[in-house]
Amino acid sequence: MPILELDNLSKSYGSTTALKGLTLSVEPGSVYGLLGPNGSGKTTTLGIALGVLRASSGSVRWFGQEPSSGNRRRIGALLETPNFFPYLSARQNLLLAADVKHADPSTVDRALDLTGLGTRQHDAFRGFSLGMKQRLALASTLLGNPEVLVLDEPTNGLDPQGIAEVRDLVTRLAADGKTIIIASHLLDEVEKVCTHVAVLQRGDLRAAGPVHSILATADRVVLRPGPD
Ligand code: ATP
Repeated sequence: MPILELDNLSKSYGSTTALKGLTLSVEPGSVYGLLGPNGSGKTTTLGIALGVLRASSGSVRWFGQEPSSGNRRRIGALLETPNFFPYLSARQNLLLAADVKHADPSTVDRALDLTGLGTRQHDAFRGFSLGMKQRLALASTLLGNPEVLVLDEPTNGLDPQGIAEVRDLVTRLAADGKTIIIASHLLDEVEKVCTHVAVLQRGDLRAAGPVHSILATADRVVLRPGPD
């Protein structure tokens, strides 16, 4: 059974059409990239899937069911950078985040381990590198031990070291069994970390399938994100 099914999703913001009948399906264990240039509809797609935006038409199913608070607990999401407390440690920040999310505090240790922050857990957030800050943001999505992670451009704004750390982490989390849905405007990022890809351009689905078949056989000029 697919983890996520989007069926014929459309979304308009006033006179702007952001999505035009998007249909896609994410299988368990995949790292599913939503690839497209700025404004192609990636954030809109993730927002509708997560229930923070309402579609103009179409439907969303998670784990074969209508979205509900029960199945939302099985999803960890990073749509925007969380606010961490600069003078608190990584561990204290995660314990607070677990409290806010009503997540089991015992999942903090696993989140620190998986993100490689275990040895720095008692250090204050303000001393962290950009990559470590973003790894802590990813750790907060792991609280409650969700099966699926939804990440909107998780390497945006990072330095090259941070980008490499976050890409490695996504690969490790996938190897740990998470299904991951990740929006990116970077072709090389999708090639490096994703198993599957849907290519969006101006709200249209241009291609979808396993990364290697889509990126090898399709016209790479069309797929390469650029100005619309
Ligand atoms: P980005 O990487 O820049 O966020 P994206 O691929 O995630 O791009 P969306 O943010 O989903 O794309 O935007 C799709 C289209 O919808 C764009 O034309 C954008 O300007 C428009 N849009 C998004 N949010 C709104 C909004 N709240 N009000 C009006 N138009 C919006």
